[in-house]
Amino acid sequence: MITIDRYYIGGEWVMPDAPRQMPILTPSTGAQVGTVSLGNSQDVDRAVSSAKAAFETYSMTTKAERLALLHRLAEISRARMDDLARAITTEMGAPAKMSREVQAQSGLGHLESFIAALEAHEAEETLPSGDIVSLEPIGVCGLITPWNWPINQISLKVIPALATGCTCVLKPSEHTPLSARIYAEMIHEAGFPPGVFNLVFGDGEGVGAALSRHGDVAMMSFTGSTRAGRAVSRDAAATIKRVTLELGGKSPNVIFADADVEASVTQGVFDCFDNSGQSCNAPTRMLVERSAYDLALEIARAAAEAQKVGDPAEEGDHIGPLFDEIQYHRVQALIGKGIDEGTRLLAGGLGRPAGLPKGLETGWFARPTVFCDVTPDMTLWREEIFGPVLVMAPFDTEEEAIALANDTDYGLDAYVSTGDEARALRMARAMRAGGIHINGRGSDYGSPFGGFKQSGIGREGGRFGLEDYLEIKVRPPFSV
Ligand code: NAD
Repeated sequence: MITIDRYYIGGEWVMPDAPRQMPILTPSTGAQVGTVSLGNSQDVDRAVSSAKAAFETYSMTTKAERLALLHRLAEISRARMDDLARAITTEMGAPAKMSREVQAQSGLGHLESFIAALEAHEAEETLPSGDIVSLEPIGVCGLITPWNWPINQISLKVIPALATGCTCVLKPSEHTPLSARIYAEMIHEAGFPPGVFNLVFGDGEGVGAALSRHGDVAMMSFTGSTRAGRAVSRDAAATIKRVTLELGGKSPNVIFADADVEASVTQGVFDCFDNSGQSCNAPTRMLVERSAYDLALEIARAAAEAQKVGDPAEEGDHIGPLFDEIQYHRVQALIGKGIDEGTRLLAGGLGRPAGLPKGLETGWFARPTVFCDVTPDMTLWREEIFGPVLVMAPFDTEEEAIALANDTDYGLDAYVSTGDEARALRMARAMRAGGIHINGRGSDYGSPFGGFKQSGIGREGGRFGLEDYLEIKVRPPFSV
């Protein structure tokens, strides 16, 4: 059994004020693998005052000093990649290969691109008027992250905070404490001064809200559900903090008949099912030009039936379980709702997939599922399902494709496949989303990630990700 009963505050592993124990469950069987102590507002106070004290000196460090610390962290990240990957597989069920090559690796990918962005960053600029603008660290940052991409999200927040000279308190998802603890160990080993980075485990109400409300926290950066993002915004409002939000999505995937339909549909299905459908930017609504629609349905059915689901501990390209019991029942309820609303089921459906390995029958595995002929009035069109569930619909014209693609409260990513470059550019311009994928290609580390509409506020990654953590100050040139 793993015991996580200490928080990283002021450069040390300290006991919580009044810990409440919560079980850590592994999704492939539902079995308990450890416990984590959840904190309270006293723990938050202690972590914030440590970050506030450290800000006095850390905010005055030079870019070269911070770059040296980040380079050291990159070396340590490389050495601990397998530890991180194993932790992620245990706590949230991503299969071994995906945990290693994508989930854990993303932490290093973001770190390297932030290092490049910081190297190129100019902290001062002279305006045409002669006035001088300086960009300065905003202060103590409260960072709240979800369980679905644990290290990806932690690094997208912690690194820009530390790179710009801010100090921070991280509250990772209470469900994924294993990888977060390793991350804190890596920061410690890299030699960041005490108090610059602090880690408190806890739930949303006990720790997340206390952080959002804290008067000494200058900025909240939150990734998670739109529901919790609203709560963070409300809690932060009284003290007028900067709030950045990375929230949910229901991303459209528009496929024109002049694209390579077979490749686009197949990739679209697998991208939707990747991480068991638990990615905020998954292409979950596939819109296909009517002349290619019947063909696309056949291809999608075959791809869904070919999608392997299996033991996350094993090597391979299969998908693993959903992350917990609540998520499993939520996905089942939404599949049931689709069936009740008369949506046409093309593949998958209710229950667990057949042929699960022995011992994993109690795990939270869902069937890769495709619904077709879905219309905008249906629940499955509108709600983020967060499971391996794709919905498909036909369209007749480019204008209709744009209207359908944008018919959502979300605006995180949007995907388009076409053989016509001018059309790809028109679609990229017209679709209201923070990131556009064209013919299967998305953006890379260092590019801004974030959403329009209810998918969020702000951008993470690279130069734009650094800017979120900076305040702007202006002064005239010196004269007597
Ligand atoms: P969640 O909102 O339940 O939890 C996310 C984090 O917020 C956790 O650390 C949780 O403890 C905390 N939290 C919950 N209530 C809170 C409150 N009232 N105040 C402060 N903190 C609170 O989300 P989840 O289930 O962990 O993650 C899934 C969601 O995250 C999905 O909606 C997904 O789309 C979204 N997500 C978005 C992005 C993105 O970059 N846009 C990336 C990953 C996940």
